[in-house]
Amino acid sequence: MLNYDESLLKEALETCLLVKSVAELHPKRLAEPWAKDRFVCRSYKLVIELNGVPVDFYFGVKKSFPLSLPYIFLAQWDSFGILPHVETDGYICYAQEDGSVLDFDDVAGIAQEALSRAIQVVVDGISGKNHQDFLDEFGAYWDRLKKVKFFTSIVSPGDQVKRIHLYKVKGGAGYLADDEQSYKKYRKIKPHVPWKHYPAIYIPLPIGTVITPPHPDKFWELLDIRKIVFDNLRADQKSELLSLLTKPHHEEVILLSLPRASDGETLFGIKFKGVNHEHPLHEAGRASEIIPLAITRRDKEYLLPRGGSNLALREKRVLLLGCGSVGGFIANELTRAGILRLTVLDKDVLTHENLFRHVLGKKHVGKNKVDGIKDDIEGRLPFVEVLPIPLSLENALESGKIKIGDFDLIISALGNVTVELVFSKYIHGIDSPPVIFTWLEPYGIGGHALLTRNGSKKGCLKCLYQPEDGDLRCRASFAEKGQSFAKNINGCRNVFTPFGSLDAMKTAELATRLAIATLNGDIKTNLIRSWRGDATEFLKNGKKLSSRYSASNDHFIEEANYHFEECPVCHEPETV
Ligand SMILES: [Zn+2]
Repeated sequence: MLNYDESLLKEALETCLLVKSVAELHPKRLAEPWAKDRFVCRSYKLVIELNGVPVDFYFGVKKSFPLSLPYIFLAQWDSFGILPHVETDGYICYAQEDGSVLDFDDVAGIAQEALSRAIQVVVDGISGKNHQDFLDEFGAYWDRLKKVKFFTSIVSPGDQVKRIHLYKVKGGAGYLADDEQSYKKYRKIKPHVPWKHYPAIYIPLPIGTVITPPHPDKFWELLDIRKIVFDNLRADQKSELLSLLTKPHHEEVILLSLPRASDGETLFGIKFKGVNHEHPLHEAGRASEIIPLAITRRDKEYLLPRGGSNLALREKRVLLLGCGSVGGFIANELTRAGILRLTVLDKDVLTHENLFRHVLGKKHVGKNKVDGIKDDIEGRLPFVEVLPIPLSLENALESGKIKIGDFDLIISALGNVTVELVFSKYIHGIDSPPVIFTWLEPYGIGGHALLTRNGSKKGCLKCLYQPEDGDLRCRASFAEKGQSFAKNINGCRNVFTPFGSLDAMKTAELATRLAIATLNGDIKTNLIRSWRGDATEFLKNGKKLSSRYSASNDHFIEEANYHFEECPVCHEPETV
């Protein structure tokens, strides 16, 4: 696409610091794997002096150069041993996706900058200065080892040495897990499927451990492995490990965890075959074969934060009342955020009329919404448990199917003000966790999430509903009082309030964010949050907006002081 002067490129390389000579490679050489696999279309051999010794490098460009960075290779990739950021084809990763923008008019500048960075990577590797970087790349090196076998792990990595197990169904892949229960739950193993298990050991190397990855052609010996383990473990970890080295099996597996420099850890495994009467980590132990195991992580600690969800939320218990349009989206987003145990209550069955504004689809029509939600979420997300209660709130409370005290947070998206006002009064008379009431308004003009019982008792749903002019209306409403929004098709059986799925989603987002902030302890008071939407459709239908809507131009409104001084439910003096 862009033409550049090739002689300029060669000249730029020749004038680089430490470069002794530059010669264009014969095009035939571009058929060699290092060049071919990376689509190099022109290449130069450079002799560069490192610590007084001449070293051969290749400098290659793709067709897209100078819109893409040049490739720089060590001609003999392991001539200095294994170096961080140098791959087995010699490729030097000198630009770790830093997002730098290339000035493609300055071909010489790009070439020189790239070369000097690549040389620095090699120099730092030889001196050991960047060996910390092995920590972040260890997994990549490990997975490229010869004879490597792939296993999946759902082990929770902690900093204690512990007994774990290797599980296998006949003909299936191997899974490392803490115990039988977590394995069966993760794999959803049916009772009649036979599976075997072998004991294994989890060994977490402490922070600060630096290991050079093994050479791809020459794996570690028993002595190397013992040295890595025993030179690095803390005293308490060592004694725990020694206590687990008894009674070895013919095959033994260890799962090691190496802390990364950035955060988190890399898991890698080793399988010992042909074990004699002592465990291979024991000084008298033997193994006829040592096989590296590349680990695919499927543990919570790894998966949950990856999706942007919050590890601290996973112990929290949340009760969601109502699985209609808003509730369905809330259930989805709460579990994606890391709520692993969600109780959902709704007495309704999903109908065809619900489909275009409900998270569930055709497949679940005719089923209880709560059962559909369970089926849908558990089918998509591992570790999540949805507990369905296909009852009305009144029945669930009366029959003892739900106990308010079991939860860290309750969200009500029932869309039924009468029931919610009764519930609001009920939770003000008992010990209750924080409760969020959420609802949306017709024609996309807005939605609300009210937080109550969060530390203080002052402020409740009833505060918004005080009799004015004999009309029970909501003070937070964006619609003027005294209007009816229910539309009905085919008589009273199909009454509904006009709103779209996007409005439900937006309201669910508002409520879910408030829920997560509350669970994380980031919100110290009771408050109400509202999103204020466009009123075009609302006005087209001849409806009137409230003064609260007109008083603001903001798309987001938060009020901490929504409580009503003479509220019959929450006006009593503070008794927290
Ligand atoms: Zn109140």
